[in-house]
Amino acid sequence: MVMIMLHLHQAEELLQRYYGYPAFRQGQQQIIESILSGHDTLGIMPTGGGKSICYQIPALLFDGITLVISPLISLMKDQVDALVSMGVPATQINSSLSYHEVQERMSDARGGRYKLVYIAPERLESEQFREMIQEMPISLLAVDEAHCVSQWGHDFRPSYLAVASLVQSLRTRPIVVALTATATPEVKEDICRLLALQEGQVFVTGFGRDNLMLAVRRGEDRRSFVFDYVTANHGQAGIIYASTRKEVENLYEFLRQKGHRVGKYHAGLSEDERISNQDAFLFDDVNVMIATNAFGMGIDKSNVRYVIHYNMPKNLEAYYQEAGRAGRDGERSECILLFQAQDIQTQKYFIEQNEQTDERKEQDYKKLYAMSDYCRTSRCLQQYILEYFGDPHAKECGTCGNCTDDAELIDSTVEAQKIFSCVKRMKERFGAVMVAQVLRGSSNKKVLQFGFSALPTYGIMKDYTEKEIVEMIQWLIAEGYMSLTESQYPVVMLGERAVRVLKGEEQVWHKQRAKPIKRQEDSQLFDILRQLRKTIAEREGLPPYVIFHDSTLREMSEIVPTDKATMLTIKGVGEAKWEKYGEEFIACVTEYSQKA
Ligand code: ADP
Repeated sequence: MVMIMLHLHQAEELLQRYYGYPAFRQGQQQIIESILSGHDTLGIMPTGGGKSICYQIPALLFDGITLVISPLISLMKDQVDALVSMGVPATQINSSLSYHEVQERMSDARGGRYKLVYIAPERLESEQFREMIQEMPISLLAVDEAHCVSQWGHDFRPSYLAVASLVQSLRTRPIVVALTATATPEVKEDICRLLALQEGQVFVTGFGRDNLMLAVRRGEDRRSFVFDYVTANHGQAGIIYASTRKEVENLYEFLRQKGHRVGKYHAGLSEDERISNQDAFLFDDVNVMIATNAFGMGIDKSNVRYVIHYNMPKNLEAYYQEAGRAGRDGERSECILLFQAQDIQTQKYFIEQNEQTDERKEQDYKKLYAMSDYCRTSRCLQQYILEYFGDPHAKECGTCGNCTDDAELIDSTVEAQKIFSCVKRMKERFGAVMVAQVLRGSSNKKVLQFGFSALPTYGIMKDYTEKEIVEMIQWLIAEGYMSLTESQYPVVMLGERAVRVLKGEEQVWHKQRAKPIKRQEDSQLFDILRQLRKTIAEREGLPPYVIFHDSTLREMSEIVPTDKATMLTIKGVGEAKWEKYGEEFIACVTEYSQKA
């Protein structure tokens, strides 16, 4: 116990010295404690939650090397660049290196020159590499993006399966830490089993990201929404996800022609194009990236201020991972989903196109419905997501689009009763559109064939359009009054709450539309500091956010530090960063404050 306390104290010191952060985030401390007390550990945190620090700090405390398995070269490069810029000896071994370079780095690693060595999983399949590794004193093995070991995960990489046998082959077994943002039970189970974690402690932490303002906008003209938003947030970095290549191309052309500096990314582009477009975004040369879900894994850019989903993604796991790419620096950022009911059809089409087992399809449908419920609920969005990821005690966030929506509450009890009653009389055997048609009194062939025109509920909502009724039904489903069967042609069923409403025991309140969202303005000093960061980044050939995060620059622009001691109190300014860039930033701040 004393040992752990000692370690923790040291860990906090290192966090301040190298990273310039005063405290661990929720979850980081638990995971680090677990590793330091010698346990294999599985840490599940959302994207942007701060997984890297969970193994980087122990790496600095352990005597030997920390070997990090990382799935993407770009991800490794970013991490190693960031570590080196903080003064931590780290390197990467990947396929971009020559045989000679690999030998040299391995020998340096054996000689104790590096604390962290990043490798791609494919390395583990090389016999020669495994032999070389036997000579290395490995204290900790960190498996990043650990869901890649599972076929249930979205990025299955067979080479991850070689991790367990590597661990077994080492003379001294290192502690193993696995990290991922995927929290489904199947994936969790697979990681523990396939990586052979010994008595692995599992921590699911910090899925709540307080700085993300979640919002869903229904029925918007998507193009003009995006145009207005990008224009209003000119100069800020953002990602816009669309579900097809065609949609990406169209939106890209549209915004480009309107004079915005935008980039695009999808699997239909050549590798060179993809790399250069990605770099342009990372280096702040273009502000907005329009992309399919092919973009993002391994994107560490911390100053993404907004993520807009032009279409609804296939499930909440994918949504939260993509949306989570906003605000990794902890700064207030927006995640807006533009929902249209036809998105559900597109996703169903994708599910049907995939050659999957029936069991898998059923699961995909279930996840799709949870996603579409998210788009329709008027409950707290953050709470909805946290409950989905297994936290039943999540509180309302108070900041999402639904919590801050001060639109009037409307009593919709009577409409709800009409709908429930109609569903009941149709014996709970039809979909939302058919129910709406009966309520509207449609003389559609199918409606007449089934004899629904004789029902007392036939035509009792003829003042509404079919679309309005369908939307109301969907909303009642999202609120849990009714449910849909999980199949390709889902049927509407009544839940317990609907029965209470029918009996007059519960009322139904419905909220109206949300207001447009506006960001707060940045100060002039912040813009000047950002310019300086860009100049330094170009000089050093690094992405700007590797120099300092937006949050660090913003704090600088608020505190206006003109001496070393004050500068070191800014979050994100550690000793090494001070040595490298401190003077330049002090000079810049001083010049500004003298002019002001
Ligand atoms: P993940 O890998 O979980 O997506 P990262 O490890 O890239 O997330 O961390 C996300 C961001 O949060 C990074 O910019 C990192 O510097 C920052 N961060 C991590 N831990 C802390 C902390 N304790 N205090 C402040 N910022 C932190």
